[in-house]
Amino acid sequence: MAKPARDTTPLHTLENVRTVLVNSAHPGNIGGAARALKNMGLKQLYLVAPREFPAANAIWRAAGAAEMLDSAVVVDTLEEAVADCGLVVATSARERRIPWPLLTPRQCGARAIAEAASHPVAIVFGREDRGLTNEELQACNFHVHIPANPHYSSLNLATAVQVLAYEIRIAALEAEKGEPLRYGDWDRPPAKASDMALYFEHLQQSLGELGFIDPDNPRQTMTRLRRLFSRVRPDDMELGILRGMLTAIQNHIHRSGGKGRPD
Ligand code: SAH
Repeated sequence: MAKPARDTTPLHTLENVRTVLVNSAHPGNIGGAARALKNMGLKQLYLVAPREFPAANAIWRAAGAAEMLDSAVVVDTLEEAVADCGLVVATSARERRIPWPLLTPRQCGARAIAEAASHPVAIVFGREDRGLTNEELQACNFHVHIPANPHYSSLNLATAVQVLAYEIRIAALEAEKGEPLRYGDWDRPPAKASDMALYFEHLQQSLGELGFIDPDNPRQTMTRLRRLFSRVRPDDMELGILRGMLTAIQNHIHRSGGKGRPD
């Protein structure tokens, strides 16, 4: 019998959308999230330093989705969880001081499905008690906020996972019906999250050596630069050019005996 062709339908791309739970405190929420994901046809669950896992309560809440817990990937840092992703979206119950490019849950679904056809996509969820840190939020390309009651906007973690997973499934079903959405006719893939993280380190170091930022207090400028590049979403080759430019600047500083000269 002939081998079936690789399934590239929008429903299949659901498997390339990863749900990342950061530092979850309650195993019941991990189980609830696993169930929500299986219901919606999503497959990848990553847990960043969960407080209690594996746990009987997680299995109980997962009900028929316990295999999602067996295949969950447990890592120490958010960076590891999203390293190979070309699109990383953070969920947040609150407005933050420096606003980031925002998506509605519906836009998030459409974009996740469009991009997951060509590269892994991550949706990141925060801690039950205090959400994601500013640093974690700023490591993501977009933020998504579920427009809940403004006087009581914080959903239970597993419920928030359900809402986003539902939107992603709806987007996949819509794409099945019509012309499938695509990431775009771009000749290169977007830079991976791990390469963006290295770029920001390199940028901070070179701007410090250049005397453009105070190495002891780079925060505001670096946050705004992070936001700029997250918005632009350079592709892998553009990021390579930017890295090369920084190296050339550093070499020039070092040659001319600048302040960042290595000992
Ligand atoms: N008290 C925390 C909320 C934590 S709720 C805070 O103020 O940030 C746990 C997680 O569920 C959040 O980190 C987020 O990932 C998700 N979540 C809850 N409500 C949400 C909403 N309205 N929009 C988007 N994500 C939400």
